[in-house]
Amino acid sequence: MITDIAEKIGAGERLTYDDGLRLFYHPNVTELGMLADHVRRQKHPEPVITYNIGRNINYTNICWVRCKFCAFYRPPGDQEGYTLPEEEIFRKVEDLIDVGGNEPESCEILMQGGLNPKLKIEYYEHLFSEITHRYPATYLHSLSVAEIVYLAHISKISVEEALIRLRDAGLKSLPGAGAEVLADEVRDAIASRKESTQEWLDVHRLAHRIGMKSTATMMFGSVETIEHRLQHLVRVRELQDESLDVSDGYFTAFISWSFQPEGTELPDMRKATGYDYLRTTAVARLMLDNIENIQASYVTQGPKIAQIALRYGINDFGSTMMEENVISAGGVSFVMPTDEIERLIEDAGFSAQRRNTRYETVLSH
Ligand code: SF4
Repeated sequence: MITDIAEKIGAGERLTYDDGLRLFYHPNVTELGMLADHVRRQKHPEPVITYNIGRNINYTNICWVRCKFCAFYRPPGDQEGYTLPEEEIFRKVEDLIDVGGNEPESCEILMQGGLNPKLKIEYYEHLFSEITHRYPATYLHSLSVAEIVYLAHISKISVEEALIRLRDAGLKSLPGAGAEVLADEVRDAIASRKESTQEWLDVHRLAHRIGMKSTATMMFGSVETIEHRLQHLVRVRELQDESLDVSDGYFTAFISWSFQPEGTELPDMRKATGYDYLRTTAVARLMLDNIENIQASYVTQGPKIAQIALRYGINDFGSTMMEENVISAGGVSFVMPTDEIERLIEDAGFSAQRRNTRYETVLSH
């Protein structure tokens, strides 16, 4: 029974770690959905689901880190390794603007790549400032903590200096990429060469101090336990608490997605089920009482589960992406055009509303 937790939610009280554990182990996922939907309606009373027009640009797949859960990377020297020429990156940006239109900072670009030993800070500064100056309609929401820590390291500058220089070149916010599960036992098992939990949190904290926002993510369904997932949620909530002391909140959104095993070093792991995704989404909405937006992950779950998740605490359908190479390397590929996203939202009983990365309404496309 979770009646006492339901009463806390009704009274607007914060849930504890133990409450979260009980929710994760509660057998009736529909009840979790009803609670999460209640909280979503309190934060977003209008029957509106937002989405964003944006695209991924996987500018390089060369990476020496070899995370066990990753099917995207190619090690330095591999024949299938690539770094996209600048002109091709610009072509991809122009394709995005063709879809998203020219309203300033309305088209999100998520640059995401491997840890390529040849790409130092100057590469990113040049690329970001070119994109920003040539294409004012874009908004650079790019680079994971791992990419930033590594480019700072090989450029022999501090992470803070790297962030400031990237910001000055046009980087506006950080995606939560690379958080995986914020518990060192899990990170040591699946991504032992990546930053620690504390480093991931510290880089996001630093970005916030210099005026950048970010999103938080969680990749679940690999080697972690339910307890690890909950630790992750509590750590994200604590960092958001810190940011609320000085601003209107550092994390704009939370997105969870499930591990895709094909092509990775963990091919025998069984994929998280749709129920696991819905349960995790609902618990995230209930635990993360200080984060306004919870995004669907249709890329891993497919349109139908993402649509159902709109009644499990989700208020945002995420980005059109246009192209996705990192998760799809692991065996799934659901990328949808704008009209299909709108159809799914409307068929679920909501109005679809385009937004920008700052979650402000965009009126045209
Ligand atoms: S997840 Fe990122 S850091 Fe890890 S191997 Fe893949 S590209 Fe490299």
